[in-house]
Amino acid sequence: MYEELVDEIIAGRRLTREDDVSFLINGDLEDLKKGADRIRAALCGNRVNLCTIINGRGGRCSENCKFCAQSAHHHTGAKEYDFLDIDEIVAACKKNEKNGAHKFSIVTAGRSLSTKDFELAVEAYKKMHEECPGIDLCGSHGLLNEDQFRRLKESGVTMYHENLETSRRYFPYICTTHTIDEKIECIKAAQRVGLRICSGGIIGMGESWEDRLDMAFDLAELGIDSIPLNALMPIKGTPLEDLPQLSEEDILRTVAMYRFINPTADVRLAAGRTLMAENGKEAFFPEPMRR
Ligand code: SF4
Repeated sequence: MYEELVDEIIAGRRLTREDDVSFLINGDLEDLKKGADRIRAALCGNRVNLCTIINGRGGRCSENCKFCAQSAHHHTGAKEYDFLDIDEIVAACKKNEKNGAHKFSIVTAGRSLSTKDFELAVEAYKKMHEECPGIDLCGSHGLLNEDQFRRLKESGVTMYHENLETSRRYFPYICTTHTIDEKIECIKAAQRVGLRICSGGIIGMGESWEDRLDMAFDLAELGIDSIPLNALMPIKGTPLEDLPQLSEEDILRTVAMYRFINPTADVRLAAGRTLMAENGKEAFFPEPMRR
């Protein structure tokens, strides 16, 4: 099933909100996985991108994202620390480069970066760009503006990470201290200076299948390059701590759905792989494991 549609997508057709995509919610999961895998193999190949990160600053975030251990609104016991020493960041980057990682990102908790921390980040990226030529540099520092993105790009950053997290409809149930429009403006500002974008979200926060579809279309319309999907791992002390974990079937269906709607993006399963057999290998290789 879906053979014809899959062929059309491989040939360049893109699903839109005007299409009847109810099959992505109601269709047979095995057929969907097979179709999604054919799309991935044809348009993305079997390449694997190994991303590594360092948490550059922890805790005390002013924002109230319900899923997040770093928010000062929740009581999670997350470690709090200022921007790490630059040499420590560069050493971690070198180690990851040596171990064969393709990408390295500094991730900082917080709505954005203070002027002081932004300058530290720029210095760290410049140093890594000079000393680790074999690794792509990514950043994840919250809501920055176009000038700041320009500076990051000049410092060697090639990709910026800013998750949408969920659908436009559901976003206010998850966070009220910033809006999805602020996130979208941030992504567009990063794109304007030529940064590639890594943006996805978290599933299993109480959203509906229609919300998952909606975020998939938002990401497609933004032309996102890399889509990390995270299955919520409820954290004690957050408002979502008692939510049930998603089933493996729901996670696999969501990954397939995102591949149909974002066929050239690198759709990846990030947090939540431990909820699945063999760490989610099936989401990438639903048929016998390819090498
Ligand atoms: S802005 Fe980022 S660090 Fe702060 S609570 Fe939200 S997700 Fe967590």
